[in-house]
Amino acid sequence: MRVRPLADLDLHSRRVLVRVDYNVPLDADGKIADDTRIRASLPTLRHILDRGGRTILMTHLGRPKGVTEELRLKPVADRLSLLLEHPVGYVRETVGPAAERAVEALKDGECLLLENVRFNDGETRNDAAFACEIADLGDVYVNDAFGTAHRAHASTEGVARLLPEHAAGFLMQKELDYLSGAIENPKGKLVVVLGGAKVSDKIGATRRFIEIADALIIGGGMAYTFLASRGEAIGKSLLEEDRLEFAADILERADELGKPLLLPKDHVVAESLDQDADTQQVDRIPAGSMGLDIGPESRRQFAETVRGAGTILWNGPLGVFEMKAFAGGSREVAQAIADATGRGAVSIIGGGDTAAAVNLLGLADRMSHVSTGGGASLELLEGKVLPGVSVLEEG
Ligand code: AMP
Repeated sequence: MRVRPLADLDLHSRRVLVRVDYNVPLDADGKIADDTRIRASLPTLRHILDRGGRTILMTHLGRPKGVTEELRLKPVADRLSLLLEHPVGYVRETVGPAAERAVEALKDGECLLLENVRFNDGETRNDAAFACEIADLGDVYVNDAFGTAHRAHASTEGVARLLPEHAAGFLMQKELDYLSGAIENPKGKLVVVLGGAKVSDKIGATRRFIEIADALIIGGGMAYTFLASRGEAIGKSLLEEDRLEFAADILERADELGKPLLLPKDHVVAESLDQDADTQQVDRIPAGSMGLDIGPESRRQFAETVRGAGTILWNGPLGVFEMKAFAGGSREVAQAIADATGRGAVSIIGGGDTAAAVNLLGLADRMSHVSTGGGASLELLEGKVLPGVSVLEEG
């Protein structure tokens, strides 16, 4: 099974319905805080426009329940137009008469953004009637929204069934190639670095990685449940009691396989989660303190393991990187990953917070691939079928 590539589609003079992922972070004033996702779609859009396709874009933004003024897509259309250096029309409806008129008025090589697809509750329900209304607006369908491919929604799944001429956009294809390549055919030793706040978000991924990785590194908030499961004192650090048994199973499995599973040996702790709190570097966490970053010995060890890898997957920051006092662990390990990449390793950074951490550290350009999808990349890596991808596959 392979996903049909965009280059195979005949686009000239055709209405090309493109699902993009412009679910961009907004700041307190409603302005776009980071346009990485918009930039990531440009190669696909240029390809379609250069071939005289009539480009009709659709995306969701946020989690609106019904029409929500702050989540209208006008600012997104404006930013896209600037980045694409090409006019981008915008219509305040996703489907219906105004959307139909705007689509009819499109000429070859022109581009239009429809309103936020999630203003319609049929979107997340993958409602057949809503998918039909969307499909009526296009002749062919392209999905470039990797970040939403793990959801079977009307604009990611339902519509693809109704428009049999469909393909994956360049961003989608690149994500699939990097992520599938890393697990199916890794170059050299595969080292996986997991972090972030919650064990429960990464259960499937942890189970898979302990089997396929050559070494697994666990840091960040999720490490404390693992440390607690082997009886270590973790003070007030993050703990998911209902995951203690899972953590113990993973540690046991690592032993059985004789596989290195690295947990932090030392920590940066504070009594409260506060940038200005007094911090300490400790091997044993005092009762009143919480571990908020990995300590210097752990950084050294994690970095050394990463340096020996041919392929590195990193998902989840190793400390509370948003605060400078607890960003050192993520910074040192990110630096080691960037250096390894410079020497020929393949590095893949999971989306969401890890991508934000790498951007904040100014190291994104030194990684092989920074994924635009957090949840989608994890689900793909843990071996799940992504509905937005499988619907594009052909036998
Ligand atoms: P996730 O969405 O599960 O990848 O979690 C990302 C969040 O984990 C970030 O906002 C980090 O601040 C947070 N985080 C990382 N390490 C810790 C820690 N030791 N204690 C609390 N939160 C953490």
